[in-house]
Amino acid sequence: MRNWNLLLTAALLASMSAAAQQAAQSQPSAQPTAPDATQAAQPAPQQAGPATDQSAPASQATPDATQPAAPPAQAIPLPAATPAPTTMDQVVNLFIEREHGLIKVLANRTPVVETYLQNLTADPQLGPVPSADHYFLGRMDMGETVDRKDYLKEPEQSMQARLLGGFHKLYKVQYQPLGFSWMVYADRTDFDREHYDFRYARREFLGDVRCLVFDVTPKPKSGRGRFLGRIWVEDQGFNIVRLNGTYYPAAHNTFFFHMDSWRLNLIPGYWVPSFIYSEEGDFSAGVKNSMAFKAQTRIWGYDLKKGGKDDELTNIRVDSVTDESTNAQDASPLQAERVWQQQAEDNVVERLTNAGLLAPEGDLDRILQTVVNNLEVTNNIDLPRPVRTRVLLTSPLETFSVGNTIVISRGLIDVLPDEASLAAVLSHELAHIVLGHNLGSKYAFNDRMLFDDDSTYQNLGFKHIPEEETAADKKALDLLKNSPYAQKLDNVGLFLKALQLRAPQLGALLTTHLGNPLAENGQVIRLSGLATQGPALDNNKLDQIAALPLGGRVKINPWNDKAEMVKAAPVAITSARDKMPFEVTPFFPRLARFTAAAAAQAPAPAPTTAAANSGSGN
Ligand SMILES: [Zn+2]
Repeated sequence: MRNWNLLLTAALLASMSAAAQQAAQSQPSAQPTAPDATQAAQPAPQQAGPATDQSAPASQATPDATQPAAPPAQAIPLPAATPAPTTMDQVVNLFIEREHGLIKVLANRTPVVETYLQNLTADPQLGPVPSADHYFLGRMDMGETVDRKDYLKEPEQSMQARLLGGFHKLYKVQYQPLGFSWMVYADRTDFDREHYDFRYARREFLGDVRCLVFDVTPKPKSGRGRFLGRIWVEDQGFNIVRLNGTYYPAAHNTFFFHMDSWRLNLIPGYWVPSFIYSEEGDFSAGVKNSMAFKAQTRIWGYDLKKGGKDDELTNIRVDSVTDESTNAQDASPLQAERVWQQQAEDNVVERLTNAGLLAPEGDLDRILQTVVNNLEVTNNIDLPRPVRTRVLLTSPLETFSVGNTIVISRGLIDVLPDEASLAAVLSHELAHIVLGHNLGSKYAFNDRMLFDDDSTYQNLGFKHIPEEETAADKKALDLLKNSPYAQKLDNVGLFLKALQLRAPQLGALLTTHLGNPLAENGQVIRLSGLATQGPALDNNKLDQIAALPLGGRVKINPWNDKAEMVKAAPVAITSARDKMPFEVTPFFPRLARFTAAAAAQAPAPAPTTAAANSGSGN
């Protein structure tokens, strides 16, 4: 049993092992992005006629395309078929029309928008490194105009405060357009020939998708804050798949940021805004930066119900709790207590999923559960109910547990260098479960689940008292020392050292929303028993990878929130600057056309970041 488990882990976690990365050449064939030249799902080759009753299987990612009774509110009509263009002028007309079609189709959506920004300062050895960071999480009403002029009105506000929407209460989810999500569209109101000139540049492949590339410039006197830059248009449905540029002209004393905005073909006929990277600053000799930063904006949760109001009633059901007393025995007090706790656990998991904060159960959970299982088996832990794991979709480094469910954030999985480090952060939560530090039972009362999505963080919380934290860390160390990871705790120590080095600058990344933080006031407090373990941190040792950049491990499908491991080919690290621990990097998703099978199973296109190709590759 034990060996089998370890074997499974080894297979599943090939990408988590620094050594295995080198031998991962066969990986690319496993990419879920099989090029499919005969795209029946694409609008272009379709027969003409608006009477196409082919309802999109979009909302729920069910593999069968002929799902008849999808709720009408969720059905997304395919774009009307048009004859293939013969001139570039016709192509321009088509992508303008498609852009307006996308704006209309997404108008009733309120996806989750997350922006994580790192201010930069120059380090002689490492180049630009984070000096401070900022985090924003919100919901965006795609029906609202992103008002760039509004942003220009308040010059007394700090630039970043305005870009983040002027929020100070960062965890209060609000429905309004945000600065960094400007570039979900080139121009929400006036994307047309009256306001813009379009010039064909060339053809280019982005991933599996052949694109026509156009330079877009605002016409003279067409107003402030117009898109200026380049767009990539896929050559079957003529949808924009990437926008790269800025807005122009700016008013006196104001400034527009540069952005690189990517879309994914997550539903038939439409490419959905998914990632936006922004960067400012010049670190060449003699340049003084008034501002330097890198920021990643991720958008997901497109398929969440608007406002979550309809969802709330469904939370009254507790149907996932099965009655296990098959012998028709009465529940003992202890059994009653356990059922009660499971009810609370199920309520919380369902509520967080409905709020767009938790990925639905998936393949990534199997990997996490295998690691937990390794800890359990080698420590002879026998719990009345199995431990489950789920992935929090957000970037801040965070774990917590409710009942027997361990939750770990996407950002934390991203930066962990190896399986032993993953086991270490999971062992702390497993220790809470083993020690019976159960916080969540109050959530068995369903009235406590009846809140709006936008106040999730105000209504749920799983912070332990310091005594329980200390006890869990102590127990976690015991669990690790008995486990298959006992010989690899040096790597955990190294990760904690890397985290300590950056902790004072990364307060936002280390601020937790629901659980206890890994670090407080710039000081790492989690797993302190391992903090001095292992070799000294040494940037010059290129084979010493203490922590990875953000975005290199986990990819999320922005439509259905499913999470899975990134399958990136290894790229050798050639200098200390390639390591980029905990850092923000540009996005470079591998674009692929929609296939129903891929959408049902996992994120169809593989959004990997540049980090996946460099930092995590070793
Ligand atoms: Zn804890």
